[in-house]
Amino acid sequence: MSRKRPARKVRVEFRQNRQVRRRADDWTQRFRTAREQLEDVQTSESVRAKGDLSRKRTIVVGDDDQRVVDEALWRPGRVTKVHGLFVYVTDDEGRAWECTVRRVLRTLLIRTRAPVLVGDRVWLSDQARMHDGRPVGVIERVAPRVTTLSRRDVRGREHAIVANAEQLLAVVSVAQPRLRPHLLDRYIVAALKGGLQPILCFNKMDLLDAALAARGGADPRAQPDPIDARDAGASAPADETDEADEDAPLGGPSVSEVVAEFRSLGYRCLCTSVVTGAGLDELREVLRGRLTALSGQSGVGKSSLLNALQPGLRLPTASVSAENEKGRHTTTLAELLPLDFGGFVVDTPGIRAFELWAVAPGELEAFFVEFLPHVARCRFHNCLHRGEEGCAVRAAVEDGAISRRRYRSYLKMLAEL
Ligand code: GDP
Ligand code: ZN
Repeated sequence: MSRKRPARKVRVEFRQNRQVRRRADDWTQRFRTAREQLEDVQTSESVRAKGDLSRKRTIVVGDDDQRVVDEALWRPGRVTKVHGLFVYVTDDEGRAWECTVRRVLRTLLIRTRAPVLVGDRVWLSDQARMHDGRPVGVIERVAPRVTTLSRRDVRGREHAIVANAEQLLAVVSVAQPRLRPHLLDRYIVAALKGGLQPILCFNKMDLLDAALAARGGADPRAQPDPIDARDAGASAPADETDEADEDAPLGGPSVSEVVAEFRSLGYRCLCTSVVTGAGLDELREVLRGRLTALSGQSGVGKSSLLNALQPGLRLPTASVSAENEKGRHTTTLAELLPLDFGGFVVDTPGIRAFELWAVAPGELEAFFVEFLPHVARCRFHNCLHRGEEGCAVRAAVEDGAISRRRYRSYLKMLAEL
């Protein structure tokens, strides 16, 4: 019979000079709850208040009292890139590590949710050796995720893109390519579904000003909604930049109407121009100290914006691996880019149409903030607001309390679920 006992936790005196914990980072005010949840995990698992003389730490010892794990020596960090079995982590001192994941943890993570993901908060142990100029670590623990931004993959399964992003910055251009309000509605739903705060960035405002001057004050129009375009006999997939459309008949709302509409719904809207520098200071403040996911069609100016804030910062381009016998494999590598003024941005390549993940038809209404005052008054409790009898949302559209454009956007998304 085996004499083996399971490993157990013991409390031992903490050595003053070995403390590696410090306040994780400088996230502030916003998303306090998310922050607090993370801190709860951190403080319950590592050393408590600094200066505490009677500090104890938890170590795990085996049956022979041989120390196998010393949690006090684990460093907190953030996963910036995942490449195969290698996980790249930036610790809270800003040092970049190359890590593998402790095997037992890997098994556990795969069973419970998903492997380690970009944006995850982790604790790593120092393996006291270098590889490719980076110290090598082993990821020992992963904090529960506060938010997860996902999209739907080709097989209809969840494809998680980034963990713990606090906000989604949806970048659109007001011209070249033309503004597509419907895309903004989609980004908002995807953000809210994942627990992220949506922030809208209308870029290339200089082109708007130029167009205004050229047309003697006529405000350029946004792209008509896909549904309108279809009505007009054109097909306009939501996920494609359609340059030819620039000259299409102008039937959409004006750009300033679109901005005003989203502002009235309570969404923060930034109006930026890389050419004039307008809005860039505000954008920096929005990004500072936070983990921000970035979305937007190619060509709207995402790279230019980031470069204007931090010269040399380059968005990695989406990598699409070659076809092989097993079929086509599309790999999109999300990567956290550290900002030198604090915080991270992560591009979300591969999200174009922003296929909604796991939004049930009855749930969609919850992501249309202006529907909420009305849904309770629909005759049927399971009303999907598609023209059912006694639908209060539809009535609000007729009354002008809900914009027709947003309502059509809702119907289009609903039809896809
Ligand atoms: P990305 O694909 O979203 O990263 O877009 P890029 O940053 O590569 O920009 C696409 C094109 O738009 C480039 O030719 C930029 O010079 C141009 N661009 C970016 N921002 C602005 C802007 O604010 N105003 C104008 N006029 N052009 C811009
Ligand atoms: Zn209804």
